[in-house]
Amino acid sequence: MRLVTFESKNAEPRPGVMTGEGIVDLCELNPSLPRGIREILAANALGRVAELASGPSAARAENIRLLSPIPQPSKVIGVGLNYRNHAIESGMAIPAEPIVFTKFATSVIGPEMPIRLPEISEEVDFEAELAVVIGRRGRNVAQGDAMNYVAGYTLANDVSARDWQLKKPGGQWILGKTFDTFCPLGPALVTSDEVPDPHNLRIQLRLNGETMQDSTTSELIFRVDQLIAYLSQIFTLEPGDVILTGTPPGVGFARKPPVFLRPGDVCEVEIEGLGILRNMCLRD
Ligand code: ZN
Repeated sequence: MRLVTFESKNAEPRPGVMTGEGIVDLCELNPSLPRGIREILAANALGRVAELASGPSAARAENIRLLSPIPQPSKVIGVGLNYRNHAIESGMAIPAEPIVFTKFATSVIGPEMPIRLPEISEEVDFEAELAVVIGRRGRNVAQGDAMNYVAGYTLANDVSARDWQLKKPGGQWILGKTFDTFCPLGPALVTSDEVPDPHNLRIQLRLNGETMQDSTTSELIFRVDQLIAYLSQIFTLEPGDVILTGTPPGVGFARKPPVFLRPGDVCEVEIEGLGILRNMCLRD
């Protein structure tokens, strides 16, 4: 199932299901359904949603705009240098444990929404990533049980201002990672039953149509179950939390000469079976 969050004129954002015939408006079909994907996950209501969406009288929403499937995640957790060849191209050691940072909810945008390039950075870069969406609350999750905590997957662009990420005191990454609009997510949350092996998906990023990153999630150093077990030792994972699993090689700052995002540039992240996430860059 492909879950989306959408808005239309004169209406609050609400959840839907993307089908071959269009977007099914779940709240129109059943006004008692929770009015957000986070809330649907927390209420363990995916079964009800699947039933509604497959019904013969499913209402199709018209003239809508997609938002991030999870518009306001309570956490967005980033994992750095999680593909071997990206660590090497970055001139950094291959990590022995996950490198973790966060992106605030204010950085999250949906598909087709503009990435705003801040005036105070000249080095904004792109990173195609597989994003994991958590479906159940969990603390100290065992690695063997971890995949049961995954609701599904979506695409992310971990937009990064390299001058603020790598040239500030103390090795702090967060400033460069969490400017407003620096976390495009979407277009849909694809439930895990449709993704039999998240560690065998082709992942690409195109900049203005030119392929810049082209790899596979089989190259991940720390896999989804390891990340969930590792992170949940520290904090409780909650429904709708998002884990960005890291980016493959080919990012802009590691190129010779470097490539940074400019106003008018278009980034497209594509992951096999999950869709395409497209965003244009504007000067803020
Ligand atoms: Zn990243």
